[in-house]
Amino acid sequence: MRTTKRGTARWLAALVGVVALTAPGLVAGTSVATAEEASLPSGNTDFRTWDDYVAEMDRLAAEHPDLVEKFVMPEKTTQGREVYGLVISSDVATADDKPAFVDVGLHHGNEWASAELTMEYAIEVVENADSPTYASLLDDARLVVVPVVNVDGLIADTRQVATGVDMNRNYGFGWANRSRPGTGPWSEPETRNMRWLLSTSQGTVFNTQHTCIKVVLYPPLLKAAGPAQDTPRLHALAADVAASYGPDYSALASADDYETNGEAIDYAYYATRGLSITTETCPDVRPRGHEFGPEVLDVYDNHAEAMTKAFTTAADPAEHATITGVAPKGSKLTLTKDFTMWTSPYEQADGTVAPTSFEEHLESSMTVTADDGTFSWGVNSSYRPVPAYTENGVEGPQTEYLTEPYTLTCESPTGRTASTTVNVDVGESVEAALDACREPTTVKATALPAVFGLDTVVLAHVQGKPKPDGEIVVEVDGREIGDGTLFKGRAAVRIDASTLSRGRHELTVTYAGSPTSAPSSTTTKLLVLRK
Ligand SMILES: [Zn+2]
Repeated sequence: MRTTKRGTARWLAALVGVVALTAPGLVAGTSVATAEEASLPSGNTDFRTWDDYVAEMDRLAAEHPDLVEKFVMPEKTTQGREVYGLVISSDVATADDKPAFVDVGLHHGNEWASAELTMEYAIEVVENADSPTYASLLDDARLVVVPVVNVDGLIADTRQVATGVDMNRNYGFGWANRSRPGTGPWSEPETRNMRWLLSTSQGTVFNTQHTCIKVVLYPPLLKAAGPAQDTPRLHALAADVAASYGPDYSALASADDYETNGEAIDYAYYATRGLSITTETCPDVRPRGHEFGPEVLDVYDNHAEAMTKAFTTAADPAEHATITGVAPKGSKLTLTKDFTMWTSPYEQADGTVAPTSFEEHLESSMTVTADDGTFSWGVNSSYRPVPAYTENGVEGPQTEYLTEPYTLTCESPTGRTASTTVNVDVGESVEAALDACREPTTVKATALPAVFGLDTVVLAHVQGKPKPDGEIVVEVDGREIGDGTLFKGRAAVRIDASTLSRGRHELTVTYAGSPTSAPSSTTTKLLVLRK
């Protein structure tokens, strides 16, 4: 059952009116033809109910198990409803190493078009996953979609959640007690769900879809708190997205549209450094609100183009950070970070005006799936923009980033663990040292005496369980003079001693490691004799 037929009926009535007024002119004919051609990936012609959204997500996950995973947000809504989303990526079960484009609709429950556009784009990507554009994006990134974040608001057709709170004023970062923000930061389960999503997804781009203005907005929310450190990158993305909707759409800092507190994009950017935008679409016609034709059908093609730009940016290694390394196949890697964030100053119970803080914990994980143990993990930069909201109030503008390394831990299938810290910036790729996650090894080496000017042999034995395989390298004074391959843990490495003077030399014998065995090295003496 549809929520209403009213929207389509009005829209058709409006078209008929245009036809009647101008028929049989060319304009009328064009209008009708356009209306007939405009179609959505789903083929829908009217708004979905909440049950329709759930059925659509279930269908996509059931029909495309390699591509689509449905997930449940951690908390139920105030009225006890589950909130669902989709992860869409090639080989989705093992796609956690890919950066994400996090795309959500319907923070405001009466902005139905925002949910429809978000759902339709997910369907388009899934149904056209083999097209060159989407196949490439799905290989490189994940599309994480929550079409309806405010389920109670959709059903009640209210802007706010069921408690009467505007969830897009309830995010804790920079929260202030104005515009129905809730009893405190993060007071609403719907907002806490979004906090969970954003703090666990490695969303390198985040879009929250709204109606009804013709703008694409980026942080900050308050002029006094900005501009954001990444303004050139944020503006470039927002302008690119806005251009898809048409020349009458503009890209600007949210504070330059109107000032607010506690919105999704501010938290998302300042906590994770993912490029975060609020996309607001609006038709030219009135009345607005639930007019399916002008608000969904007529906007959709532009919306799809805009979201593909955002998805492409999310997948671009130049726009995020990459952590590489080697760990045994099947190892679980976890990336965490903990820090404190602050609200705006607001009136406390004792009458004083002061900000409050909350502890932020970012955590994401992936599983190493490559046979050779190598991994490459697309993540947000570890360098966090210094926020303007502090224990002293709003202290902008800020230009610096905090050097705040991630903690990367590894747990191997055999229970070995390793932990290291990683600083990695936008556009950078950094190799993480996780040797302790592999089985330990030791090298024993003996060099047979060499006769001056001739070659000799180093006997190497690498011990460990399982028996190590891989390469042995022999160096003197940092210069490689021989290498060999282990067989059952042993190698006889022929070395070029012709350039070495008579006497004793110290050789470094290094085992390079394997997907399951950690590298190790030792030194041994080589005696070069006169002929
Ligand atoms: Zn809105």
